Amino acid sequence: MVLFKHTKTRKKPNNPPVQWKITKECLDLILEGAKSIYPKEFGGLLRVDTTNKHTITEVILLPGTISGGSQALFKLHMLPIDLSIIGTAHSHPSGISLPSRADLELFDKYGKVHIIVATPFDQLSWRAYSYAGDAIHITII
Ligand SMILES: [Zn+2]
Repeated sequence: MVLFKHTKTRKKPNNPPVQWKITKECLDLILEGAKSIYPKEFGGLLRVDTTNKHTITEVILLPGTISGGSQALFKLHMLPIDLSIIGTAHSHPSGISLPSRADLELFDKYGKVHIIVATPFDQLSWRAYSYAGDAIHITII
């Protein structure tokens, strides 16, 4: 009886995390959008490139969500399903880029990548999170 087949051990990739990317133009749009709406809250959807499915190239401003308040992004269930939309972006006029409890609930329900931009809306004042609320890295390209 052969208990162990002596085959070459192939190292199984340990589910390498997705390397998300965002174009500089798209990030700038989010930061500029958040800045222009401040002190109200900015909310948008992140869309990926159709061929590079891990590269965020577009932010779609949600109509009617710029009235302020953290309820802004919760009308997402009213939107049509679009598979090129992979997450959300919104601003925290408070200056704290950590997700709130409501944010975490939203992240869990919708999308894979979520960006929070905080004041002063510069290159250092934004963070990205997974659906589980873990901080993730997005490379700017
Ligand atoms: Zn938030």
